[in-house]
Amino acid sequence: GDSEGKPSSVRHPRWIRINTLKTTLEEQLKSTFADYEQVRALSKVISPSASGKRLHVDEHVPNLIAIPASTELTTSQAYKNGHLILQDKASCFPAYLLDPKAGDGDVIDACAAPGNKTTHLAAVLHDNAASAGASSGHGRSKIIACEKDATRSLTLQKMAKLADGERIIHIKAKQDFMKLDPAAKEFANVTALLLDPSCSGSGIVGRDEGGITVHLPSATATEDAVQTKAGKKRKRAGSTAKPAPAPPPPATQETVVEEEAPTTEDTEAKLQTRLANLSGFQLRLLQRAMAFPAAKRITYSTCSIHPEENEHVVVKALQSPIAAEKGWRIMRRSEQVEGMRKWHRRGWREAARSALNEDGEGSIDWNEIAEGCIRCE
Ligand code: SAM
Repeated sequence: GDSEGKPSSVRHPRWIRINTLKTTLEEQLKSTFADYEQVRALSKVISPSASGKRLHVDEHVPNLIAIPASTELTTSQAYKNGHLILQDKASCFPAYLLDPKAGDGDVIDACAAPGNKTTHLAAVLHDNAASAGASSGHGRSKIIACEKDATRSLTLQKMAKLADGERIIHIKAKQDFMKLDPAAKEFANVTALLLDPSCSGSGIVGRDEGGITVHLPSATATEDAVQTKAGKKRKRAGSTAKPAPAPPPPATQETVVEEEAPTTEDTEAKLQTRLANLSGFQLRLLQRAMAFPAAKRITYSTCSIHPEENEHVVVKALQSPIAAEKGWRIMRRSEQVEGMRKWHRRGWREAARSALNEDGEGSIDWNEIAEGCIRCE
């Protein structure tokens, strides 16, 4: 069923996020897209006959539109000046889901480059402040964006600047998130974290479609799973959880950082080793995020379809001592932002169940975890 990837012949639209740090959806509909016909059905921009100037406004993520993939946009003024950001729908879920509010505290983007989600976070913060009537725009909250790789850090800096996010985004270039000390004073006010770690990339679709050349590397990934968690819980009554005593390994144990698309030569055994390395790193990242003293919300996302990197990581993190100590739980679907509540593809129940350790049986509700997770394809 869901586990089968779509055939490569399935077409995808070109998704465009309107950068509300610089412009508005209304402004863009009246200018860049003035001669486009607005269509209610997404199929009208992805059907093979859909060339032409058709535009669909997404019903889940605010300020997101779809146009036919064949449309060349990179030459447009609005793209060049950072009013439009080419960002797949799935890649817009994490920042929207995290929903940072101005004045609620700072946000960490742990794996930030090239910065699609960082700039999206900045825009959401800005929009939330505006609708709350805050006169100072984003209030006092800032986004601390961490990127380990030197070259990618430069891209992140360029993107933050182009998107006009520099006032809100504080970049920690060449910084390994695992080496940050959660107890440090500068993080005392961090209430939300977005984790979008390197992964197998197995959910990436449509990379070659449309033949687009981007000025900035932009995440064309289809994040196949977005897991949201958190919000402090009171310990659940009747909980018998005795999480495994092993502490998170030290930061230096990271083994895999970069994404590469799996090749067909990958044997099953090789794939399993790779997934084990990646998911070990992803789990340590999530456990580290859980340790930030003022943190209330975390989103964890990958562009992988493998349960090992998705539901399994979330379940294992929730079974960790740090989760029990700090009272982390999955965020219920009913608590999610409106557009995400309406999104029907959720995590795989069987994957959540199979990741439980013995102690987890009976103490962790895997149905609830699956329902709190979001899948995209
Ligand atoms: N969130 C980005 C976006 O939406 O544009 C995409 C992030 S990409 C999937 C993962 C990034 O995390 C890579 O740029 C990688 O260099 C970086 N990274 C990997 N391990 C890291 C670590 N321990 N600390 C900080 N960054 C890390």
